Amino acid sequence: MAVHYRTKAIIFKKQDLSDFDRVFGIFAFDFGRLDLHAKAIRKINSKLKSGIDIFYLSEVEFIRGRSKRMLTDAGVLEKNNNIIQDVQKLKIAFQISEILDKFIKGQQQDKEIWEFLIDVFGKLNNPQLSINNKQLILCYFIWNFFAVLGYKPEISKCAVCQGKLNPYNIYFSNKEGGVICKKCLYADKEAEKINSDVVKILRLILKKDWQVVSKLKIEPASQNLFDIMSNNYYNHILSIFSFK
Ligand SMILES: [Zn+2]
Repeated sequence: MAVHYRTKAIIFKKQDLSDFDRVFGIFAFDFGRLDLHAKAIRKINSKLKSGIDIFYLSEVEFIRGRSKRMLTDAGVLEKNNNIIQDVQKLKIAFQISEILDKFIKGQQQDKEIWEFLIDVFGKLNNPQLSINNKQLILCYFIWNFFAVLGYKPEISKCAVCQGKLNPYNIYFSNKEGGVICKKCLYADKEAEKINSDVVKILRLILKKDWQVVSKLKIEPASQNLFDIMSNNYYNHILSIFSFK
């Protein structure tokens, strides 16, 4: 008889297959990333249907088939309804989903990633989340997710010479993995000039101090710099992963 595995999981991807089947991309507490095949789940009388869907936190049970894992039972723990019903939040959830899909390939239990995903989806599902903070959640996710993957940027001293930073002359270098001083610009000609506000936002984000981050009044110019820097760092890390 087949062994039944049971675990809690965050569902971050779903894809319809033929014959009313569907495959879910999940991040499971006990196993990390897995794909689960749900047989005939799109049929009207499927008993699996109510327990699992995109962005649910579910308890799932599965068996290992010859080539794939088959879902045998699913019970919902949290539907994250507030994400599903808000177009902007849903867009951010799909961006997070895409990042997970790109960066987490193999099956490996990771409690740090698990707790971080519970944290992020919990914040995104919060009905009190303001419009400004919706976009900030994505940056909060990206920087802290990369930190968990081992790409936490250096922000407290120059990433090249380790010297003290002068707040009026600071640059962000993807290549050197953090903030660098003017003297060290030779090490990365593509480093972008940033300001001390940007470093402050990043420091609070990496401290996961959401209480403070969510109340920050950010100047549009700094917000713009921060968004560009986040986007560039994302593309840089993605290029590293693409070569792995
Ligand atoms: Zn330096």
